Amino acid sequence: MFKGFTRFLQHPGERLKNFFATQEGAGQSPGMRIIPREDHPVSRSLFSDAALKVLYRLHNAGFEAYLVGGCIRDALLGKQPKDFDVATDATPEQLRDLFRNSRIIGRRFRIVHVRFGREIIEVTTFRGRPNDDHGEHVSRQSEEGLLLRDNVWGNIEEDARRRDFTVNALYYNIADFSIHDWADGARDIESRTLRLIGDPETRYREDPVRMLRAVRFAAKLGFQLDADTASPIHELAPLLLQIPPARLFDEVLKLFLAGHALDTFRMLREYQLFAMLFPEAEESMHELPWAEALIEQALTSTDARIHQDRPVTPAFLFAAFLWPGMVQRQHTLEDEGMPPVPAQQTAAQQAVTREVQHIAIPKRFSLPMRDIWELQQRLPRRNGKRAFQTRDHPRFRAAYDFLLLREKAGEIEPGLGQWWSAFQEADDHERHRLLGKVDTGPNSRPKKRRSRKRRRQSAPNQND
Ligand code: ATP
Ligand code: MG
Repeated sequence: MFKGFTRFLQHPGERLKNFFATQEGAGQSPGMRIIPREDHPVSRSLFSDAALKVLYRLHNAGFEAYLVGGCIRDALLGKQPKDFDVATDATPEQLRDLFRNSRIIGRRFRIVHVRFGREIIEVTTFRGRPNDDHGEHVSRQSEEGLLLRDNVWGNIEEDARRRDFTVNALYYNIADFSIHDWADGARDIESRTLRLIGDPETRYREDPVRMLRAVRFAAKLGFQLDADTASPIHELAPLLLQIPPARLFDEVLKLFLAGHALDTFRMLREYQLFAMLFPEAEESMHELPWAEALIEQALTSTDARIHQDRPVTPAFLFAAFLWPGMVQRQHTLEDEGMPPVPAQQTAAQQAVTREVQHIAIPKRFSLPMRDIWELQQRLPRRNGKRAFQTRDHPRFRAAYDFLLLREKAGEIEPGLGQWWSAFQEADDHERHRLLGKVDTGPNSRPKKRRSRKRRRQSAPNQND
């Protein structure tokens, strides 16, 4: 890593006096360590102009202003930070007065968005410790310890204690470019450890989404979960069922669209968190021999596209997660005598209805997802004009990619995908030759249609 920072971490004793704050009073504590500018590699050139503008305007107006969270963590890890979170002692109302281009958002956790063109800087007022003096409108906790509202203002020290992980509680001070390390986060960055601040079980009960964040950061940063941070997760995973599906949807996008979807998925399963997000997908992976491979292939190709800077759509990922369960439902309906097309429509509807109780998938993603599914029935039927109509469908490309996944995963015999690859590349003459071969061509009958287990439609599901 960078020289000064490593030296500081290896020989903290040498410079102890500099690092441990000596003054008493607000904002200082014996546990806080100040890393001066010359001992860390985080330079202002890593920050966006918008982030710097916010910091300076706050500073010039007499407020405290720090960059905190992912941007400082990532900068210390030698990565270019993407989004910037500012922490300050200015209240949301004071922020609104200071920045014309700002908006207060959130109820559970009020923050201010300051907008500069397409960039948004998130500005958060220091959180304090809720106590009985505060009314319900600022702070509320359920009997199980879940924080329903967290809008009590405090000082930076209290704010640091309420953050999730030690590596997320590093504050870059615009006043002197030092970093304030409140929870030994610098050391955990050096040893690549993800550690919750405070008692892990209490912190997960306050906000179960922290379990997902633990997995997300561990997978993204290649960090180990500290043993005490990891151990309560198995038991507490079901607390995620209390989280509003709309919040989980946002979280799911962050989990799977950050370029580390496969590692994240495996780790989520290891901690039994995945089943809380996609219960039917988890069940189907135990019942269908190809389901896990299909989902893993989808995640692998999502990661590859992100690393190549190619666009990805969540609709494709949701299509893969929910497909195996939908197929099982469809087979049950077909066995009951329903023809394939309505059986798939009904099965799709049922699968989505169950899933949105957990993850609020907006229609703008669930509709294209269902198109991708529906096209799976049309791809084998290529007679006459059909092949051309299918090729011209707006969702054809995604559906074709999805077909390739199904073949690779072993759900269906390979062949149809290759036909479509050839058809897309062919000239007119070659296309007609390919169409002539359709009757004897490959089809998409499931390989092991009979290996599925029957689903009892009427039995209430425990996870619902
Ligand atoms: P990234 O932006 O790379 O996903 P981040 O750490 O910046 O990572 P954000 O969701 O942007 O994550 O949150 C900013 C900071 O706010 C975090 O670093 C953390 O200090 C704090 N924070 C966010 N969510 C929580 C939470 N659920 N509990 C406690 N602190 C949180
Ligand atoms: Mg952030």
